[in-house]
Amino acid sequence: MSSKKNKNLKNSSAKIPKPKASSQEDMQVKLLRDVVANVAGPEAVGIVDLLSGKKNVNEFTIAEKLKITINQTRNILYKLSDEGLVSFVRKKDKKNGGWYTYFWTLETGKSIENLRILINSKIESLEKELNKRKQDRFYHCTTCDLEYNEEDALQNFFSCVECGGVLELKDNSAVIDNLNREIENLRRDLAVVDEQHGMIVKKEGAVIARKARAEERKKKMEREKKRKTREIEKKKEAKATEKGPGKKKPAEKPGGKKVKGKKISKTTSKKNLSGKQKSASSKKKKMKRVKSSRRGRK
Ligand SMILES: [Zn+2]
Repeated sequence: MSSKKNKNLKNSSAKIPKPKASSQEDMQVKLLRDVVANVAGPEAVGIVDLLSGKKNVNEFTIAEKLKITINQTRNILYKLSDEGLVSFVRKKDKKNGGWYTYFWTLETGKSIENLRILINSKIESLEKELNKRKQDRFYHCTTCDLEYNEEDALQNFFSCVECGGVLELKDNSAVIDNLNREIENLRRDLAVVDEQHGMIVKKEGAVIARKARAEERKKKMEREKKRKTREIEKKKEAKATEKGPGKKKPAEKPGGKKVKGKKISKTTSKKNLSGKQKSASSKKKKMKRVKSSRRGRK
């Protein structure tokens, strides 16, 4: 069974269009088509060509280009989304009767990761089968071409349930050769996938690092800005106190309110923080709502 699946995996990658970009990108597209076909069926592979190298592609454009209905398109995309192979943003669309329109992006890294897991589990199950073939005895009826494991053969007193013929001990060497070949092929596939995966991780890592650096620069600028505002406030305060007895000195107030300026800035920075946290959690909630609402829309 797993061998059949493996064949499908290879067939689906056989009809790749002529390469345009670098061979590495072609290799990635080929692998992505494999994984998409595996999750959503061979009819879904066209989505890879439409989404690869792009961001936030309108689902109506996808449906139009694939020449399928919007519901069929969404069903495919939801399947892919459940596996993390694609992500989306949604926007309210007046043209679409005020409904939300989804814009889709291919998650290359996650997809290749998914493919790695898939190939690894295939190798694992083939290796189990290989060990069984090496260790256990199998019997077969040469007339009916039926195979029995030792237990079943014993239970049937080494006679075939179909024709009653005597079961013969099976020579497993051909099966073992086939399994070895299949495992070897999958290992080669895996090496290619691993290489691609490594490159994507590196690339994505660089993007993340760049974003983090930009974020850090932004924070630094904000801190600097706050510090300057504080300084100005302090100077103002100092001037106000210099003006003398007409105005109440903040120091005279109880409860250490002298450091009012400082306190205010502390609370504002706290507020900012909780605001950020809030927006993060509301984002999560939003995502949940999106998921449930799109399910409802099915
Ligand atoms: Zn038989």
